[in-house]
Amino acid sequence: MQIIRDLAALHPAIAALRAKGRAGHEQMALVPTMGALHAGHMALVAEGRRRASQVVATIFVNPLQFGANEDLDRYPRREAEDLAMLDEAGCDLVWLPTADQLYPPGFATNITIAGISELWDGAARPGHFDGVATVVAKLLIATLPDVALFGEKDYQQLAVIRRLVADLGLPIEVAGVAIVRDADGLALSSRNMYLSSDERGRAVALPQALNAARDAIRAGTPVEDALGAARDTLAAAGFTDIDYVALVDAASLEPLATLSGEARLAAAAKLGKTRLIDNIAV
Ligand code: AMP
Repeated sequence: MQIIRDLAALHPAIAALRAKGRAGHEQMALVPTMGALHAGHMALVAEGRRRASQVVATIFVNPLQFGANEDLDRYPRREAEDLAMLDEAGCDLVWLPTADQLYPPGFATNITIAGISELWDGAARPGHFDGVATVVAKLLIATLPDVALFGEKDYQQLAVIRRLVADLGLPIEVAGVAIVRDADGLALSSRNMYLSSDERGRAVALPQALNAARDAIRAGTPVEDALGAARDTLAAAGFTDIDYVALVDAASLEPLATLSGEARLAAAAKLGKTRLIDNIAV
């Protein structure tokens, strides 16, 4: 696995990868990450390998997508372990950009995606999706993959990036990958490392609340009642700052008062200092 840190070395390395196509496959898949990798990230790499002959991953803790009072400084950084996992998973090249190279002095561009990025996590974390869209646009343009893989764990992010790629006319397929969960149902997340063992035990209330709400809605319980019960479950487990528990349209992410078409249940709340998000199909 090639490890690239220098932007100047990236383009020749990508050009060399592109020359190594495999018949019947797209040439190159991109898996953008912030590191502190786990089996969820590895599922993206595996899907990349299934679709493309070459898989490129990036590791970059993007300061633009963290708010002033968020966890940028304490976000877990485990580069040696990450590189070993990517190598083991069959990644061909990993790019570790520096903030100086992505955002050199004078950098003044900001990408805002109206509408879809203003809902839910966008409302709870002002500027977050601007930071995501801006860095993902840069990563996509720097590597020009045939397909870029994003987890459904960050369901709104996936929708925002689909909008970005469509609006900019980038010739890149955006593919979503199903959420990888721990045995008890908690979605894997780099931020789960923040949880104490007591909090980790209680965190399972998040997927449990969503599953129970899905079952209730499917069985005909009014949506408002099912969402209220999910909030109660979260509060009883010690979650605070419940930013949202919502039934949304799977494509537009607009809230749904009744079940219709393809829908998703999504929630975000804090357990201690750790903000957790999750979502499931209904
Ligand atoms: P992050 O490093 O948290 O920015 O995540 C990088 C990519 O991995 C994003 O596309 C995430 O949606 C995806 N991802 C993170 N956790 C999971 C998970 N548990 N299952 C599937 N994909 C995930």
